[in-house]
Amino acid sequence: MCTKTKYETIVGLEVHVQLSTKTKAYCRDKNKYGESPNSCISPVTLGYPGTLPKINSEVINRAIKLGIALNCKISKYNLYSRKNYFYPDLPKGYQITQDKTPICTGGYIEIPNKKINITRIHMEEDAGKSIHDIDPKNSLVDYNRAGVPLLEIVSEPEIRSTQEAYSYLKEIRKIVRYIGVSDGNMEEGSLRCDANISVRPYGSNVLRNRVEVKNINSFKNVMRAIELEVARQIKCYENNIDVNQETRNYNASDNSTTVLRSKEDAHDYRYFTEPDIPPVVISQKTIDEIKVTMPILPKQKFIFYTQKLKLSEYDSKILSNEKLFSEFFDKIIKHTKNYKSAANIMLGVVKSYLNKKSIQVNDLPISAINIAKLSDMLSEGKINKTVIENSIFPLMIKTMKSPQEIAVENKLFQIDDSCQIENLIDKAFKKFPQKVIDFNNGNSNLIGLFMGEIMRDSNGKLNPKKINEILIKKLKNEIK
Ligand code: MN
Repeated sequence: MCTKTKYETIVGLEVHVQLSTKTKAYCRDKNKYGESPNSCISPVTLGYPGTLPKINSEVINRAIKLGIALNCKISKYNLYSRKNYFYPDLPKGYQITQDKTPICTGGYIEIPNKKINITRIHMEEDAGKSIHDIDPKNSLVDYNRAGVPLLEIVSEPEIRSTQEAYSYLKEIRKIVRYIGVSDGNMEEGSLRCDANISVRPYGSNVLRNRVEVKNINSFKNVMRAIELEVARQIKCYENNIDVNQETRNYNASDNSTTVLRSKEDAHDYRYFTEPDIPPVVISQKTIDEIKVTMPILPKQKFIFYTQKLKLSEYDSKILSNEKLFSEFFDKIIKHTKNYKSAANIMLGVVKSYLNKKSIQVNDLPISAINIAKLSDMLSEGKINKTVIENSIFPLMIKTMKSPQEIAVENKLFQIDDSCQIENLIDKAFKKFPQKVIDFNNGNSNLIGLFMGEIMRDSNGKLNPKKINEILIKKLKNEIK
């Protein structure tokens, strides 16, 4: 038996979400990625004696938002704690975090076919950055990131595969972007992930020693790190070696993990309540006010698109994935009932244009009303997809005119004229006489060849449905 199938993978994730607030968590220094080193710092960030932290209320608002989006209970009474440890990029010598009173508890994240429960979400601050690869002799420190607000989302150990871990993270990124609390860029460190990993034989319900893998900085590496660690632990058990409870570092450069610290030298963070920040009490009124400002979440949109608009699950998923894109679609469907055509246009010609130009839908120089009109014209068979892609859409961008005007001016309406269609079919038959014989001998695939030829010949302006109809009749000699 393959040993891999004998063991079950158990993963819990700790995800740090960096908030895109204007200022830092406990002072008014700028919170911005990519500024020149040590330019967003003040005595508070640097932890000078005598300075005092002050709560940034926007951090609390965003924590509540995330809690609501993830179905959590919001704690009314919030204390802050000091988590003490020494590190060169932690100038105070401690991190201000929430220990015993996380702002959110419970809740869950939905991934395909499953809910992953959330243990807690707490507010804390980021550390600065140590840089070891610029100066050959010295390590450098950039304190711009010190004090940047973080929300740490801790999941229950309910993730059972690398794919589930990936889906879970993707869902977090989608939601934090949707509700606008973070840009969710993993490459810039706005989403960072530590994984608690263990394995056990299928059928067992005992949790074995877990290993925490830190420093995972991309979606792909989350899967790689879990795979590596699962394989390593299975190998240990198969050789009767104990798996130690320890923290390991993931090294992206050579796709390996190495021991950072074992349980024996585990940190004692000497948590105690932060004396410089009074308890933060959140009223039900504040929570209710934030609830009202919440956008409709992707999951609810998905349900609306599939159930009310009868769109396919595939289309609905892509349409609901990004906030701006789905809001634009929602504007379109206020002006048309041809939802399927509107979805086809959005997911086809519009999406590929946005991708090609690397722009967001709000930079599209076409109004939602004109896309709605275009959807109607497509749905009514006045124009076809090819004409939209090749002529009308590019002209809508160029001229900002309505699709109706463009179609009239450029004579782009689909032709239903049977006579013209028959002439083109005859022409195609003359060009490929042998293929007509082959078709009648049973090669029905040749329909495609004739369709392509005739569409090309008519510059895509003929109604394909009608061509198909007449073509089949003609091939079968039903009409001469
Ligand atoms: Mn943390």
